[in-house]
Amino acid sequence: MPSFVIQSKCDGCKGQDKTACMYICPNDLMKLDKQRMKGFNQEPDQCWECYSCVKICPQQAIEVRAYADIVPMGGAVIPLRGSDSIMWTIQFRNGNVKRFKFPIRTTAEGSIDPYAGKPTADLSKLNDPGFFNLAASDLPKVGA
Ligand code: SF4
Ligand code: SF4
Repeated sequence: MPSFVIQSKCDGCKGQDKTACMYICPNDLMKLDKQRMKGFNQEPDQCWECYSCVKICPQQAIEVRAYADIVPMGGAVIPLRGSDSIMWTIQFRNGNVKRFKFPIRTTAEGSIDPYAGKPTADLSKLNDPGFFNLAASDLPKVGA
C-alpha cells in the first residue's frame, strides 16, 4: 500500500521546483500540485513502499500504509530523520511502542563515489567468475 501525503503538514517544500519527495523517489512518483503547493503520490499503484520519501520529508508529512501482514491495523512505522541517524518508532496494534535508532550515511548528497579505491574493471575478464574488485585468491574455494 502506497505512500500518502498528509496535506495539512505538507508545505510544498516551501515552493522549491523539485521537492524533497520528488528528488528522492526512485520511481518518480511524487509530484507537486503547484496550485495548492502540496505534494502527492501521482501513481499509488506503482509505489513499492521503500519509505525514502517518508524519511526525507522535512515536515514528516508522508506516511505509508503498510500491508496488514507487516503492520496490522492500528499499527504504524514512523521514521524520524536526524542529522546522523533515524529513529524508527514502531507502534503495535496493542498499543505497545518500541523505538530503534540506526545511524545513517553522512556523505554529502551527490558526493559519493562508489568506485573510489577500486581497480579499473578489465572487460576482457567479463565472462570470468568472481568480481572485478577481488583477486582470484580472494574468492571462496568451492568444496573447501
Ligand atoms: S517532501 Fe514533504 S513537505 Fe516537501 S512536498 Fe513532499 S510531502 Fe510536502
Ligand atoms: S515509498 Fe518509495 S516508491 Fe513510494 S512514493 Fe515514496 S519514495 Fe516513491
